[in-house]
Amino acid sequence: MYISTRDNYPSMSASEVIKLGMVPAGGLFVPAEIPVLSGEEILARQGGDYQETANWLLSLFLPDFTSAEISTCVGQAYNEENFAHPQIAPLNHFDEHIYFLELWHGPTAAFKDLALQLMPHLLSRALFKTHTEQETVILVATSGDTGKAALEGFKNVQGIKIIVFYPQGGVSKVQALQMTTTDGANTYVVAVKGNFDDCQNAVKAVFADSDLSSALAKKGYALSSANSINWGRLLPQVVYYFQSYLTLIAQGAVSPGEKINFVVPTGNFGNILAGWYAYRMGLPVHKLICASNENKILTEFFHTGSYDLHREFKQTSSPSMDILVSSNLERFLFEKTGRDAAKINRWMADLQAKGCFAVDTGTLKSIENILAAGYATEEETLKAINEVFTGHAYLLDTHTAVGYRVYQKYRQQTGDQTKTVINATANPFKFSRSVLKAIQGQDFLQGTDEFSILQALSAASRVAVHPALCDLQVKEVLHHTVCEKEEIGQEIKKILQCDF
Ligand SMILES: *Cc1c(COP(=O)(O)O)cnc(C)c1O
Repeated sequence: MYISTRDNYPSMSASEVIKLGMVPAGGLFVPAEIPVLSGEEILARQGGDYQETANWLLSLFLPDFTSAEISTCVGQAYNEENFAHPQIAPLNHFDEHIYFLELWHGPTAAFKDLALQLMPHLLSRALFKTHTEQETVILVATSGDTGKAALEGFKNVQGIKIIVFYPQGGVSKVQALQMTTTDGANTYVVAVKGNFDDCQNAVKAVFADSDLSSALAKKGYALSSANSINWGRLLPQVVYYFQSYLTLIAQGAVSPGEKINFVVPTGNFGNILAGWYAYRMGLPVHKLICASNENKILTEFFHTGSYDLHREFKQTSSPSMDILVSSNLERFLFEKTGRDAAKINRWMADLQAKGCFAVDTGTLKSIENILAAGYATEEETLKAINEVFTGHAYLLDTHTAVGYRVYQKYRQQTGDQTKTVINATANPFKFSRSVLKAIQGQDFLQGTDEFSILQALSAASRVAVHPALCDLQVKEVLHHTVCEKEEIGQEIKKILQCDF
């Protein structure tokens, strides 16, 4: 069963939780009990492929799904049609310490595919299991990558409509085109005059608006979310933490029981939280390293215990991490306070009312045992891309480069020699302009269109353009809607043709 981080809702089954997306009264669902595995149980899974590892781990959290249902969903998600690599998420052995976990071989070229290729299948089953007759409306706020991954996952799925809100001008050109060229009869994409936090706040407010939900219910609609506030988004991400460890064991790169580090370029704190669940389940992890860009609110929080929104929102070359309100931190704090819902309620109320909250030293200490945090500036990020390309002929995207740079600083400061897996969260061609600028030392192609830049990057790096990005040029832009950030609720009503 699943419970609310704010102790304000009855416990729910996995199906209900995936269907609801977030706790209707505010708060996030977490597993009432986290299954703990022994070292032997983990090692026994050595040699299993990605699908087998996914079947095993998902079954521990989805007791109301049969194993046949789980393996059908897993088979529909992780196959060679959707992923351009047979291992789904292969490890690239970079140097003595570092392995890059390439999470970008899916249909939209970012790690969100690992979750969003699976989640629609889980949700379809969940709707069936809970005898849902209403049409489900998936609301998505995106900083760039979730939007397209969710559109691809949900397009033309029966009984579902999907509406995506993205910050106009706050995503890369390639990301925007990926979204606005999406076909499918049930897809809606809206550019918002605001930043990601505006989009996410508005979507959360719609969930919390009980008048609106009941009006929508009368029209036959139920709302859900494909953001990482939905447990169905987080759970699939636990799989690649285990799978990468098992691969290192199988290769003899680490010995049984030996701990490793994971570096995670972080925005909404979803990916790294999945890593923490893996650790809590018994995966031998030494440190989870939380990497931020110049929006370094998490770095400061983990160093001081104080989370403070009073700062400038920066647009960086790693736009998928341009986030100030990291939703999944709430789940982490719930666990790190020993599941103290009273504290969570207080801190979240402070955040809402005053734009800041501070945790107690006990909580901060407990966090420091497992988590390290750092950030990279814009200059450092581009320099890292250049360095890695020049020295190793390997192309990093801007987000992965933030992770790489933060790890370099971490190792300098700590001398930690632990083997380290850096999550490579996006394919470099998704952020071609910045990556090309990084490897050429300056922006030679100002004013040039995106497609010339893709080709120029391919020529300069001698790496082929990711297949998902090749046909963008010939695709028609189908979504043109733009709205003010205050109009998001209105826009939803318009799309669903609710005139109230
Ligand atoms: C979404 C995203 C991130 C941030 O992941 P969170 O789960 O939000 O912390 C990092 N890099 C890329 C490329 C992304 O798309």
